[in-house]
Amino acid sequence: MKLVLLGAPGTGKGTMATDIAKSLLLPHISTGDIFRANISGGTELGTKAKRYLDEGKLVPDELTIGMVKDRLAQSDCKDGFILDGFPRTVPQAKALDEMLLQGGSKLDLVINLQVPEELIFKRITNRLVCSSCGKPYNKLEFPPAKEGVCDFCAGEVIQRQDDTAETLRTRLDTYHELTAPLVTYYQQQGILIDYDNSGKHSQESVDNLIEKVKAKIESISKSSYVGGNEN
Ligand code: ADP
Ligand code: ZN
Repeated sequence: MKLVLLGAPGTGKGTMATDIAKSLLLPHISTGDIFRANISGGTELGTKAKRYLDEGKLVPDELTIGMVKDRLAQSDCKDGFILDGFPRTVPQAKALDEMLLQGGSKLDLVINLQVPEELIFKRITNRLVCSSCGKPYNKLEFPPAKEGVCDFCAGEVIQRQDDTAETLRTRLDTYHELTAPLVTYYQQQGILIDYDNSGKHSQESVDNLIEKVKAKIESISKSSYVGGNEN
């Protein structure tokens, strides 16, 4: 299954993607996590990307697309993946279509997570993340069992540097300008579903979304089967 999670910052992409990946045994590819790992590892890519992340701006397409291309070429992505935070611009979406087409495949489904903007502010300013494994937490909704310590890897749970109200405004503006057009892009391909993610995150909400994803993929494959047999 080849999935993309789309949504403004704070709509719960990382949290949902982590849990869907675990349930469906798919590799979870978060471009934000890969950039942050490169920054803390002091790589050349990290050095180039750092100022964009600090300012809440998008890393240039060329760098981002190259990075994703390398990641998707790894063998664990052959049969499926869940992309979280990519694509974020129309050129990135076109590059992704092209990459998959070259390998003879395509995206199965794009999930558009929707959350009202007031709630986004509340979630982001309460957001925490494990500095070792990237597992997301939230001070109000699902804090780690022991304060400051990751439930999964015992790494340090911290607040992200770019999770301030000011940077968030920039990230939301960028989302509306450059990422929101992808909703229409994927609607036109007939592979987009909307999901209201303003409820509390739970295993139930994850299972509910997975059900919807499977049903939609099935209906797409049925309609293309019928279409393919018309002549
Ligand atoms: P959020 O979704 O909360 O904004 P992410 O962890 O997905 O957080 O992204 C953090 C930062 O990483 C972004 O603000 C941007 O600087 C960079 N980034 C992540 N994905 C992309 C992408 N597809 N294109 C360009 N920059 C990206
Ligand atoms: Zn952890």
